[in-house]
Amino acid sequence: MATLPIAQFVDGERLWQRHMALARFGALANGGVNRQALSEEEIAARAELVRWGRAIGLAPFTDAAGNLFLRLEGRDPSLPPVLVGSHIDSQPSGGKFDGVFGVLAALEVQEAFRASGRTPLRAIETVAWMNEEGSRFAPGMMGSALYAGARSVAEVLAVRDPAGESVETALKALLARDVDVPHRALGRPAAAFLEAHIEQGPVLELEGKTVGVVTGIQGKRTFRATVTGEENHAGTAPRSVRRDALLAAAAMIGALDVAMRDAEDVTRFTVGRLEVTPNAPSVVAAKAVFSIDLRHPDAGTLQRLGDRIADICRAQAGPCEVAVAQLLHDPPLSFPRDIRNILAKAAAAVGAPWMAIASGAGHDARYLHYFCPTGMIFVPCRNGISHNEAEWAEKDHLAAGARVLAEAAAVLASNGAPR
Ligand SMILES: [Zn+2]
Repeated sequence: MATLPIAQFVDGERLWQRHMALARFGALANGGVNRQALSEEEIAARAELVRWGRAIGLAPFTDAAGNLFLRLEGRDPSLPPVLVGSHIDSQPSGGKFDGVFGVLAALEVQEAFRASGRTPLRAIETVAWMNEEGSRFAPGMMGSALYAGARSVAEVLAVRDPAGESVETALKALLARDVDVPHRALGRPAAAFLEAHIEQGPVLELEGKTVGVVTGIQGKRTFRATVTGEENHAGTAPRSVRRDALLAAAAMIGALDVAMRDAEDVTRFTVGRLEVTPNAPSVVAAKAVFSIDLRHPDAGTLQRLGDRIADICRAQAGPCEVAVAQLLHDPPLSFPRDIRNILAKAAAAVGAPWMAIASGAGHDARYLHYFCPTGMIFVPCRNGISHNEAEWAEKDHLAAGARVLAEAAAVLASNGAPR
């Protein structure tokens, strides 16, 4: 293993035990966790990470977004560090591995460096980004977006959870507890960012691969369609006078589903929310508002399909009116080839069967991509299940992923910043 100076010191058992230990914060009855952003449970889990880091001499830092960094100092502290990490917040009924793996694998990389007796040229920092999931404070990826300058601090601080508490208040509570964790400015330069994550899909398992080198993240557009009709009596109003907003919305959703189908089954089209007013069994609906989530890895196709949505809705409106508003347009992105090559070489070096794979889900790496050279790897999760208490990953796969990360981080931290 002489050619693997750092990866040979990755301890798969320690990595596994830390997943189990972190899963105690916000533990649920069926094996999952409820550890939403800036909750008591997440703050406690974060303190545990700080304890683990300090035990091997890592220096913790935080910033105005509540991101947590654990710094392994490099031989030249003036050089921008290599960031490695993900998130430790979860959905209300999330699993033990989503996000957590990327953070714990980064910490394991630092453990491996310590055990090897080597010091990288650049500092390596484990990072846990604040609020990736966006279940309590929507939308997610807040910490990485603020760090990368993609959103304004004032706009994010004003976001409120369903109970009315603001991000600002929740962050203050967190930062008051972290009195001994120093603050640094948002958006300090970084040489690179690496994120390891469970796949959250079935491809690696089906292909019998241990590691996926992520080529990029597919594009996403979201819309809100508001259909306006007129309230009327279910027993007396004849069809000829009805302006039934729910019926029109149903026709639109059906027509959209047909229009968005492709033979290759690449397009992802979802209507996940429908709000009906007044939502009463014996009243013709006056208003129906539904969400549209459209994703595709090709920028042109995403543009073309998304641009058809308003016309398709209008064609199905009948006696009602419809307004379609776009809420988000994140184009697809491709991670730099240099970083993908470093990750692929690392996978081959540690003997992990690997493949190139596209990411269907968004990750913190989306925002970091526009900030510094960024790459991702996936490891399999059982049956592709995620955002579910049943989420599961194999100990050996997690260890293999951490070894790939270790070798790739060692390369990135040993020389000039890649392009
Ligand atoms: Zn995640």
